[in-house]
Amino acid sequence: MKRKLLFIIVLFLFFSACNQERKDRVPLILISIDGLKPSYLEHTDTPTLDSLITSGVMAESMIPVFPTSTFPNHYSLVTGLYTENTGVISNTMFDEEIGRFFRLSDRSAVGDGRWYGGEPLWVTAEKQHVRTATMFWPGSEAEIMGVRPTRWYTYDNSVTYESRVDSVLTWLTLEDDSRPDFITLYFSRVDSRGHSHGPYHEVTMEALTYVDGILRQLINGLNAHGLGQKVNILITSDHGMIDLSEDRLVFLDDIIDLDHVNVINWSPVVMLQPTEGNTELVYNQLKAAEDNFRVYMKQDLPERWRFGGHHRVPDVVAVADLGWTITSRSFFERRGILAGTHGFDNAYPDMHSFFLAAGPDFHQGKVIEPFSVVHIYELMAYLLNIEPAPNDGDPAVLKPIVNRR
Ligand code: AMP
Ligand code: ZN
Ligand code: ZN
Repeated sequence: MKRKLLFIIVLFLFFSACNQERKDRVPLILISIDGLKPSYLEHTDTPTLDSLITSGVMAESMIPVFPTSTFPNHYSLVTGLYTENTGVISNTMFDEEIGRFFRLSDRSAVGDGRWYGGEPLWVTAEKQHVRTATMFWPGSEAEIMGVRPTRWYTYDNSVTYESRVDSVLTWLTLEDDSRPDFITLYFSRVDSRGHSHGPYHEVTMEALTYVDGILRQLINGLNAHGLGQKVNILITSDHGMIDLSEDRLVFLDDIIDLDHVNVINWSPVVMLQPTEGNTELVYNQLKAAEDNFRVYMKQDLPERWRFGGHHRVPDVVAVADLGWTITSRSFFERRGILAGTHGFDNAYPDMHSFFLAAGPDFHQGKVIEPFSVVHIYELMAYLLNIEPAPNDGDPAVLKPIVNRR
């Protein structure tokens, strides 16, 4: 009888210790403002971001992974891995083993875990009994390593930004064990206006001011629930944006015979799988016309991109120079070009992304030098007190921004 009582007491102490640890853990909200270029802040009103910058840590810019597109960068951010180690090599890709294309418009592909290599933070957390919830994030709709966030949604652009914030506030105010400690929040409007109108255009800048107002709603909601100083927030973006022009066009069909290739991905990173026996011909023709773009055989892709090592990268890759578009005559006649885009070499400052950290675990009023997006995974694991999976990031890079109480 005595032993039984002792056992119950030990069990009680164990669970209250776990609960204590949970209560002590400061929740972390990871926000993405897709396509937010750091220099936009000098071109429009962003009172909420400005006040968070004053009270937190901002990077001059963040260095994205290559290519500077949405899925590769969001997924590298949550895994700490370069593109060649995630396999998310583009928004559009082909995998011979899976036997199909991946496209953002294809729900079944986007939700298929086979496309996502490495371990995203929500998997790392859930495996260590830390609850997570995603209000959209590339990869969050897929079961990865047999794990999903505790709460997640299928991507739906029509969900209002107000209701996205409401969901996050609801989650954070849940009592007991069901409150998630890691939450994502995603907004695409700044990116889509940047594509349709161009960077710095007033419509794009209005979109940023609008998203800034949505962030105010989040901050006010946190304050109203007494959580103002009890939540860590990371505000990030995935890439920058650059103007395109009809004066900067390269027509692929003027250089090669399009029957000689399967085009996996179009501009600015044109991924070509030549048909049987045509690889050298296609490469040589492109090489001879290499003006306003660079062409590479897969094995010669620059090492600094940490991109060419994945089996999904096809044999020939042509990358447009900044602001140039590689297209075909028929596509251009039908569809023209966008006002702005991204995807170019990640060395261009115009492709760099945004990083801001605010909350009780961060220093105040600090500006840091540009750093690679792959270091954020280690930072987040440290903040959540969980063991990170092996990754390409260095925990020392972002430790200096942390001010642990
Ligand atoms: P990009 O083509 O690289 O500019 O990608 C930006 C677009 O990605 C956004 O406008 C969204 O429509 C789309 N997107 C973002 N997250 C997701 C998701 N989880 N699933 C499908 N599409 C998404
Ligand atoms: Zn994007
Ligand atoms: Zn975009």
